[in-house]
Amino acid sequence: MSTEGVIYRVAGPVVTATGISPKMYDVVHVGNEQLMGEVIKIVGEYSIIQVYEDTDNVKPGEPVTNTGRPLSVELGPGLLTSVYDGIQRPLPVLREKMGDFIYRGVAAPGLDHEKKWDFKPTVSVGDEVSEGMVIGTVQEGPIEHKIMVPIGLKGKVEKITGGQYTIDETVAVINGTDVAMMQYWPVRNPRPVQEKYQPDIPLVTGLRVLDTMFPLAKGGAAAIPGAFGTGKTVTQQSLAKYSDADIVVYIGCGERGNEMTEVLTEFPELVDPRTGESLMKRTVLIANTSNMPVAAREASVYTGMTIAEYFRDMGYNVALMADSTSRWAEAMREISSRLEEMPGEEGYPAYLAGRLSEFYERAARAKVLCGKDGSVSVIGAVSPPGGDLSEPVTQNTLRIVRVFWALDTKLRERRHFPTINWLTSYTMYDRQLLDWFKANVAEDFPTLKAWAMKTLQREAELQDVVQMVGSDSLPDEQKITLEVAKMIREIFLQQNAYHPVDCYCPLSRQYKMLTLIKKYSDLSEKALQAGAPVDKIAYLPVRTRFNQAKYEENVDEELAAVDADMDKQFMELGA
Ligand code: ADP
Ligand code: MG
Repeated sequence: MSTEGVIYRVAGPVVTATGISPKMYDVVHVGNEQLMGEVIKIVGEYSIIQVYEDTDNVKPGEPVTNTGRPLSVELGPGLLTSVYDGIQRPLPVLREKMGDFIYRGVAAPGLDHEKKWDFKPTVSVGDEVSEGMVIGTVQEGPIEHKIMVPIGLKGKVEKITGGQYTIDETVAVINGTDVAMMQYWPVRNPRPVQEKYQPDIPLVTGLRVLDTMFPLAKGGAAAIPGAFGTGKTVTQQSLAKYSDADIVVYIGCGERGNEMTEVLTEFPELVDPRTGESLMKRTVLIANTSNMPVAAREASVYTGMTIAEYFRDMGYNVALMADSTSRWAEAMREISSRLEEMPGEEGYPAYLAGRLSEFYERAARAKVLCGKDGSVSVIGAVSPPGGDLSEPVTQNTLRIVRVFWALDTKLRERRHFPTINWLTSYTMYDRQLLDWFKANVAEDFPTLKAWAMKTLQREAELQDVVQMVGSDSLPDEQKITLEVAKMIREIFLQQNAYHPVDCYCPLSRQYKMLTLIKKYSDLSEKALQAGAPVDKIAYLPVRTRFNQAKYEENVDEELAAVDADMDKQFMELGA
């Protein structure tokens, strides 16, 4: 079988070659500069290749080499803190080699192969081990990096020694096979687990509208669709910073470079609230910005997912953000049109839905091979053109994911942040998470949340009436309902991602805030019955204090004070 061929045709990122007789998805090196690509279609003697690097000036007749291997990533110590392009080349290394612009034809391994790590064995000679089991650890910043038996290997540990090793050096011999710390994994294949669990533990994010109203389960998948400027990136970044995941994989896919620059400059400076160290130390960033070749968008998504699964396999909870999956879909559309495939809806290929679901289905909480529990939760941003949610990428995503956080341009105009629309967003994990919230927050948390949702829905109905006849004509209880709904929106749902205190709200405080709004509502009803005037009830001074409380350094004390003030002021009203 021949591995050397020549280029027959070049059409943007799609190159046709002859003479290489590859398998589907073999990685090939294209042209004099050896650009990296992947075989995506085989028609007779023609191999059609999507090239992950810029193909300007690549010409027919130049050589093509088939590696015979699928697109794979290097997994091992050194992943954390890395910033990669879509094909796991470290951006800082590329920059050093090539300057700031075109990175092409540069082979740069994903991991540092010279660096020595302190390997500590956790099994002994004579132990029986099998694939995925932990044989030792390496301390990588705040994270204990577990070294696992490669998939497919089992047997007796014949040799294992602690000490300083590079990722390529043999640290153990298992059943006659030398084992090093680094493994390869083909990115399109999900890594195996023992057993997938029901998603019944929430990913706690510290964002009130998400945790309380529309929670995502650990191992679940959520979509954040929203028009330009509605807050997709800010929300994803908040999740990266504050959610209770051990590891964050952040894929910047096809978005403008400056958004990624923000992430790149901000993350290293952010202090991780849980470890006190830089957030980067538990993060892997993949930056495939809009100026980089489109084909690499697909690679970036699979590369990120594989890295996430690798940490899951150590027993960690991983949160994976992809910003934006629409750019990946656009890349599919472009490649498909170059292949002259029959276009589906709005020019997207017919396999759009299949690709998206293969990706999101890799989200899971599972008993992993080493016997621990781990998870990959996926949060995908979707950028529908003009914010039109009926377009194919949004619609296909919604058929797969079980959480939908709909960002709303109107809320943005009103400066209501996060702009998550409480009437159209949903979570399908509600029921499964019920017991967890009851046990870990409060027995009445679900009832309280249901009450808040109902109040907001009631507000929407009443607003229709108000539009027609004005608010003066509403009965007093309905006026109160509107005031209470306003409190839910302004005090509870609105949350400033940039405020040092309000950016993160623990569940206990979310509960306390909502309890106090409910209390205001209950006391208002009593006061009405006791004959207090509705204007007085609606504008008690305590409301100002309540509005401000979430921004105070001593917010929990403030909320307690609000509680006491409320008692006092309603008492004075005769409630
Ligand atoms: P998108 O990624 O959807 O285009 P961004 O996430 O960049 O939008 O958000 C646009 C702007 O909206 C931000 O720069 C910020 O000013 C504002 N914004 C979004 N979310 C919040 C939030 N939770 N708190 C405060 N401001 C926000
Ligand atoms: Mg954005």
